[in-house]
Amino acid sequence: MANWMQGEARYRGKRVLILGAAKSGVGVARLLLRLGASVLINDRGEPEEGERWKKELACMGAVILTGGHPSDLLQRNSFDLVVKNPGIPYSHPYVQEAEERGIPVVTEVEVGCSILEGEAIAITGSNGKTTTTTLTGRLLARKNPETIVAGNIGNVMSEEVVRSTPSSWTVMELSSFQLKGVDRFHPQVAVLLNLYPHHLDYHGSMEDYIASKMKMFQNQTEDDLALFNRDQELVVTLSEQVRGQVAFFSRKGEVERGSYIAYDERGEKNIFYKGGRNLPSRRILPVREIKLLGDHNLENILAAVAVASHYGVDPETIRDEVRGFTGVEHRLEFVREVNGVSYYNDSKATNPEAAEKALRVFTKPVILIAGGLERGESFAPLIPYFRQGVKGAVFYGETKERLKETAREAGLEAVFFAQDVEEATLKASSLADRGDVVLLSPACASWDLYPSYEVRGRIFKETVHRL
Ligand code: ADP
Repeated sequence: MANWMQGEARYRGKRVLILGAAKSGVGVARLLLRLGASVLINDRGEPEEGERWKKELACMGAVILTGGHPSDLLQRNSFDLVVKNPGIPYSHPYVQEAEERGIPVVTEVEVGCSILEGEAIAITGSNGKTTTTTLTGRLLARKNPETIVAGNIGNVMSEEVVRSTPSSWTVMELSSFQLKGVDRFHPQVAVLLNLYPHHLDYHGSMEDYIASKMKMFQNQTEDDLALFNRDQELVVTLSEQVRGQVAFFSRKGEVERGSYIAYDERGEKNIFYKGGRNLPSRRILPVREIKLLGDHNLENILAAVAVASHYGVDPETIRDEVRGFTGVEHRLEFVREVNGVSYYNDSKATNPEAAEKALRVFTKPVILIAGGLERGESFAPLIPYFRQGVKGAVFYGETKERLKETAREAGLEAVFFAQDVEEATLKASSLADRGDVVLLSPACASWDLYPSYEVRGRIFKETVHRL
């Protein structure tokens, strides 16, 4: 059973304001109420399915305020704690006021971890979190049926941890937004995949973004493991700051401890794992057996292999699972071949670096579909592909003009606009010749036109299936 005693010791009798009633807000409200806290949950809108959870939480004793943020809420109530939805910015008046009054502001991960039992394996990074978390979860589940997958991946941590026991392994995908709001969170294994300058609108600076990611390591001790990408200089520098035992993964060469790619005695490229300086390297699987495309996915696989090996999953089992792993929906997902043209859905590429990783994969000519929410990010990472590799592009959404400018400056002539993803897909298919690739890799968030990258990706796939 979860560690209810520890949770109660922290939260019983505490007056908590939960800001934001999305799935995670409702989940953490339930948990806090069970732990004996008094809860006021506030949302400026009327969340979907509001009636059902409102009734449930009201029966449990919560006060529910939706449809606005009353300006004197923090004056009229004395709160001991604010649990903020990760998406709500720190400039929000309640957050500012709480900070002025010395009330701690945390995210639901902090509350969830108070009852977590067993091993916590936390995974973060700018890109690759969901892919790595998914594969790590599958690998660990082969050895331990009490493996739980939770966090940013869509399974609210405060809900999943209720199932944890002293023998469970909980794999968590964590975003910088979630990590900025943790304090006592202490994973036994923490993985930092990579760092790119993302979400700077939210964090205000790269320093704050990095500091948030590094909170994952702050409570680790010498008994814990901290796993880093050895191929990214910034990440290697950060590895020098942690207290846990350091291990690495690398595509480029052997590491003292961790996973890496190297040639075996027959000259074949393989993934290896080495448990420590004086321990032998073990061959895990040949790289050619991997179905996922791209070097970036090799990095994700290396990270997952290192974690699984650390927990004693045997090489044969890892090989079997990795071989069968075809990735996660909306991440370089192969949709269909029509008239010799291959269609790929990479809707989750919500920033230029992610789209760059996708473009790097293809040697065939690409018709790129991109565009979306304007965040002022530079599209410079795409320039080399506009020069070579991309033979045509269809742009849509708020960023279409800027994308066009970048493409034209790079010398790409065949640039077109579309109203939305559906029109863009039809246009792209009309431009494609046998042997080409049509790739939706938007390089932008979806929110100017679509509620999520999932909706955007599904529209693309539906359009492709109708071709
Ligand atoms: P996240 O959960 O961090 O957003 P995903 O696994 O969902 O990451 O992948 C999102 C996109 O990021 C993918 O479509 C791919 O283009 C890119 N990506 C995935 N893994 C990596 C990586 N290790 N390094 C850089 N880019 C990556």
